[in-house]
Amino acid sequence: MYDKNNIFAKIARGEIPTRVVYQNTHAMSFYDIEPMCDTHVLVIPRGEYENALDFAHRASDAEKLGLIDCLAKTADKLGVSANYNIMANAGLNAPMFKQSVFHFHLHLIAGTPKPIFEKMVHCLCK
Ligand code: 5GP
Repeated sequence: MYDKNNIFAKIARGEIPTRVVYQNTHAMSFYDIEPMCDTHVLVIPRGEYENALDFAHRASDAEKLGLIDCLAKTADKLGVSANYNIMANAGLNAPMFKQSVFHFHLHLIAGTPKPIFEKMVHCLCK
């Protein structure tokens, strides 16, 4: 069940300050506190959704458009529209990266990987 006290829910409600990149009525993006690469931003819906499929099943069309708009405008604003990764983790037993915050978020990642992340990707991809 969705936990209203998760950290991104508090950020979405404006209860915790964060470095916002872009926002619209239904979504917002902000910098990850532990970036994997030079650019690492999280894009979240303002609504209460636990993961990508929960969002796909329950969000309104306006919320879905809002999230996509936020993702695109964030990438444009940061100048990373040509080379990037988008990632979403779901569940404690996801095979590669486990979800740690249970409010749906997209990781938008670009630029040079931090050394620790480069090592992790090397282990996963070899
Ligand atoms: P997950 O593991 O759920 O896919 O990703 C959660 C992400 O949220 C991690 O990359 C982590 O660094 C980031 N994160 C955790 N707590 C905070 C916070 O309080 N503020 C921000 N900006 N990012 C956070």
